[in-house]
Amino acid sequence: MSYYADLSPYEYLSNQPDMVNIGWLSAEYSYSRGAVPDDFLRALLVWPIDDSTLLRGVHDCDFCDAESPLRVPAPVERGYVSLGMGEFHVASRQGIVYSAPSLIVHYISSHQYKPPMEFLEAVEWRLSECGPDELGGRFPGLSQ
Ligand SMILES: [Zn+2]
Repeated sequence: MSYYADLSPYEYLSNQPDMVNIGWLSAEYSYSRGAVPDDFLRALLVWPIDDSTLLRGVHDCDFCDAESPLRVPAPVERGYVSLGMGEFHVASRQGIVYSAPSLIVHYISSHQYKPPMEFLEAVEWRLSECGPDELGGRFPGLSQ
């Protein structure tokens, strides 16, 4: 998978709006590690993948032998999500849009990746802004 430094300008796919890279990791570069809040990881597990990025190539994890698409248990109706295809797009309160490969969920849960604080804040802001009820089917795991 292509490597892009956290918070660098997005360039993986053309015809996308201005975005900022998050979690485009590679074994050739070190990355920040640490714990992230459970709510944050649970939100990403049910975060919708941007349709325009789906099936535009499969990303494999650079740190282990897991092959994409990776099936990960998730609080959704079918009980799992597939990672390694497509991107999450997250808009912050300040209007910055972050692009993260869906594999970021695996990087966090299996390789201790800790994304930049401003990305954590953007996800949490979206959650608080929408509220679990309004999110409905988009965040089924958070509606309880
Ligand atoms: Zn891995």
